[in-house]
Amino acid sequence: METDFSADCGKCFALCCTALAFDRGSQFGHDKAAGQPCHHLASDFRCSIHARREALGYDGCEEFDCLGAGQRASAIFAPENWRRDPAIARRLYASFSLLLKLQEMRRALVTAEELDIGDDLHGERLELLANLALHADSYNEDIAEDAGHTLKNCRAFLKRLKSALAA
Ligand code: SF4
Repeated sequence: METDFSADCGKCFALCCTALAFDRGSQFGHDKAAGQPCHHLASDFRCSIHARREALGYDGCEEFDCLGAGQRASAIFAPENWRRDPAIARRLYASFSLLLKLQEMRRALVTAEELDIGDDLHGERLELLANLALHADSYNEDIAEDAGHTLKNCRAFLKRLKSALAA
C-alpha cells in the first residue's frame, strides 16, 4: 500500500547513493563523501550490486529508507541540467537532505498519534503535521527557510512532548 512515506526509486535519481556520505565499516564497504556517486552506481541510476549488497557489506543501503524524499527532490530538479552543473547538483542534494528531514519528522509526528498526551498537545501535533505535509508535498527552494523554521518548531514540540510523557 502506497503511503505519504513510500519511496519510489523508479522516480528518483538515486539520491541516497549520491547525496549522502557514508564510512567504510559494518554497514558500508567503502568510504563515500556527500555529493559523490557511489562507485557501484550505474549510469541508469541502478545499483550494480543490488542483489549482492548484503554479501558485499552494504547492509546500510538495504536498511536506508528515504521515506519519499528522493522522488520529491528529483521531480523538482528533473527539468534542470544538474548532471552537468555541479552548482545545480549541490542544490538538488541540499533539497533532498531537507526533504528527508521533513519526511522523518512527519513520520515521527504521525507515530505520536498513539501517545496519551492530551488534546492540546495532539492539536499542536496536528497543526505541525499539516505544515510539514504542506512543505514536503509542495516543496521548492523558495520555502526552504520556512521549512527549516517548521522543523525547529517540531523539535521544540518533541522536547515538550517528551517532558509531558515523563511527568
Ligand atoms: S552499494 Fe548500491 S545501493 Fe548502496 S550506495 Fe552504492 S549504488 Fe547505492
